[in-house]
Amino acid sequence: MSIPPNDTWHIVLPDKAQVFRRRAMRFEVLLTHRPDWAYLAFAEQIASAQQHSMTDHPSPRLPDERLLRLRNAHAVPPLCAHSGRQENGWHEALAVIGSRVSHATTGKTRTAIERLLDTPGAQIESFARGVLCGYYGGVDSEARVLLAAALQVHWVAMAAEAAARAAFGPTEVPSLCPVCGSPPVATVLRRHGGTLDRYLHCSLCATEWSMAVDRCTSCGSRGWLHYFRAGGAHSAVRAEACDECGSYLKILNLDHAPTLDPTADDLFTLELDAAAQDAGFARSGPNLLFVPGIEPSV
Ligand SMILES: [Zn+2]
Ligand SMILES: [Zn+2]
Repeated sequence: MSIPPNDTWHIVLPDKAQVFRRRAMRFEVLLTHRPDWAYLAFAEQIASAQQHSMTDHPSPRLPDERLLRLRNAHAVPPLCAHSGRQENGWHEALAVIGSRVSHATTGKTRTAIERLLDTPGAQIESFARGVLCGYYGGVDSEARVLLAAALQVHWVAMAAEAAARAAFGPTEVPSLCPVCGSPPVATVLRRHGGTLDRYLHCSLCATEWSMAVDRCTSCGSRGWLHYFRAGGAHSAVRAEACDECGSYLKILNLDHAPTLDPTADDLFTLELDAAAQDAGFARSGPNLLFVPGIEPSV
């Protein structure tokens, strides 16, 4: 089902100086609640390394103006991550992130990271394309997370760079990012004046784009939606599941808890994933900092 754009559709491009700084800070707070959770500490190290990497990230090379205009005219994401265009900027981010995280890890996680950093160019390009296409095989889970982290840095930098050079509008598939074409990691609710607006938050480039609060974010149905709620301090996070397409995605209410981060708080509320999946629903978008079943040694 396609969802018609409306007058209120709008987009929020990422602030590259803030995305990973806020995420790292949020992980630090979450770690105070669960200091024994090794994976949370691993994710915090990655977010911190992403922030460090972004400070020195080279200016990304965007597609030329003609191609940007052409894609916009055809409602295709201007910086489509699945276009086959080879990107080079993420290699610098991987070197920085890999170096910092490997020094903080031990055992098979460190071995997997070092093996990734020694991977020949053509093969690592193939691994990166797999990450961008949602393919989980071919590379160690820990290495896959690092690759995804580097790709996030590069695509956030590109989306920020494109803010002044490309026009953005609704695309053919409203559930995918209008900048890079990736699925969302979660949705967020923000209050503007008297209304609560919903945005989907891109799993790759951190762009946010608006969508009606009463539709499934995957298929657009206004049919049967179920909600799974987190307990205690995380009552501002819930999972929305759709009977029509069988998918679910989490909603973070930033009106109630402004410091929530879509990537960090999605990871922190895995019990909601378990509840939705036990009820037969499947995630409609990935959290690129998490591969199900991963248990790094840190
Ligand atoms: Zn995106
Ligand atoms: Zn649906």
